Amino acid sequence: MADLNKLRYTIESCNHCGQCKWLLPGRMSGWDFAAMCPIHEYYLFDAYSGQGMLNIAGEILSGKMSHHEDLAEMLYTCTACGACDINCKNVRDMEVLDTILELRRDCAEAGYLPEVRKTELEKVMNTHNIYGLPHEQRFSFLPEDFKDDPEADTVLFAGCSAYRHPETILAAIKILKAGGVKFRLLYEDEWCCGASLWRMGAHKEAEELIKRNVETFRAKGVKTIITACAECFGAFRGGYPRFVETEFRTLHITQVAAELLQQGKLLLRDDGEDMTVTYHDPCMLGRLSEEYVHWDGEIQSWGVHVPEKEWRRGEFGVYEPPREILRAIPGVKLQEMVRSYEEAWCCGHKGADIDGEFAAYTAGERRREAASVGAEVIVSCCPFCREALDSKDDYNLKYMDLTELLADNLREEGQV
Ligand code: SF4
Ligand code: SF4
Repeated sequence: MADLNKLRYTIESCNHCGQCKWLLPGRMSGWDFAAMCPIHEYYLFDAYSGQGMLNIAGEILSGKMSHHEDLAEMLYTCTACGACDINCKNVRDMEVLDTILELRRDCAEAGYLPEVRKTELEKVMNTHNIYGLPHEQRFSFLPEDFKDDPEADTVLFAGCSAYRHPETILAAIKILKAGGVKFRLLYEDEWCCGASLWRMGAHKEAEELIKRNVETFRAKGVKTIITACAECFGAFRGGYPRFVETEFRTLHITQVAAELLQQGKLLLRDDGEDMTVTYHDPCMLGRLSEEYVHWDGEIQSWGVHVPEKEWRRGEFGVYEPPREILRAIPGVKLQEMVRSYEEAWCCGHKGADIDGEFAAYTAGERRREAASVGAEVIVSCCPFCREALDSKDDYNLKYMDLTELLADNLREEGQV
C-alpha cells in the first residue's frame, strides 16, 4: 500500500522557493535555457512542477483532496525526469521525486491509473515488453551466425527497445566482441526490466516482475549486466534495490566501451567525418542512475536525519564515459549545452509512447538548445531519447546514437 506519510517531512518542508523549476543561478547563462521542469514550462501552472506535486500530496494527506480522473491526468503529465529533485536537493535535503512517485502509486492504487498507462501495464504483464509485441520475437534481429558465450557470467540485456532499435544492440555486440568481452544473452528468459511499472506506480506488478528477473539472473549465475538502454540502467540501479536485494552489478555499454578504449582494446578509424556534436545526458543514465540505498530512521529538528542518510543528488551518474568516447573519435568536436550533466533538460519521452504535443515541445526545446551551441549533431545513448530527439525541424540537426556511432568508427580487422 502506498504510504505518503513516510514522506511527510518532504511534503511539509517545501517553502515554495521555486528552485525545483530552475537551474542554479551559478550555472545560468541567462533566462533562455534556465528552465528545468518540462511540464511547468509547457502547462504554465505551478501545480505542474515538483513544488506543485508536493502541495497536492499534502492536500491528499490531509484529506482535503482525493484522487480523481482529472487529477490523475495531471499527475501523469510528469516525465519523472527528476530535475526538480536534484535541484531541490541543492537547497535542502528532501525527496521530491520519490514523493511524486509515491503520489502516483497512491493514485494507481485508488483505481485512477490513466488508460494509456493501464494499456502499457497490460502489455508488459501479458507479453513481457512495453510494446505488446510477441515475446518470441525479442531477439529475432540477431544474425543467423551470431554466437554468444553461454558460460559467461556477464549478460548483455537488450531491453524492450531492441524491438524498435535492434541496430543499437547489434552495435553493442560489435563493441563487446571487438573488445574481447565474454558475454551471453538471455534470449526467451529476458523480460522487460520493469522501469515503467515502477515509475507509473504499479508497485505490485513491478515487484512481481523485478523479483522474477532477479531470480532468473541468480539462477543463471549472472554477475554483471550490461545494457545499452538508459531506462534499464536506471531501473537496475535506482529501482530494483527498492524491491529486492540485488547481487549483480550494472554497467552501461558506454562505461564498458570507455574502459576498453582506455585499455587500447578498441581501435578507431581515423577517416571519420568532421562534425560538431553535443551530448544529451539521459535522465536515467545521469542524475537518476545512482544506486538506491534504503534509509530508515528519525528526522529530527532542522531536517537532521539519524542515522545519516546517503542522498542521491545526481552527482555520480554516468557522465564522463560517453564524453570520453566522443572525444576519442577522430573528427568529433564536443560542445556542451548549458543544461548538462545532472542539470540536463529532459527529452520529453515517457516510456512506451511519445505523448504528442508536450513531447514535441520538450524535445524541440532540447534541439533548440543543441543548435544554439553550434552543434550539427545531437548524440545520446538511450532509445527513448532517440525517439524524442530524432525529429525534423528548422534546426538542421541530426541525431546519432552513441553506441552506433562508436561501432561505426571501429577499425575493422586488417584496416590501418
Ligand atoms: S526547490 Fe524544494 S523547497 Fe523549493 S519549491 Fe521546489 S520542492 Fe519546494
Ligand atoms: S520529475 Fe521532471 S517533469 Fe516531473 S515535476 Fe519534476 S522536473 Fe517536472
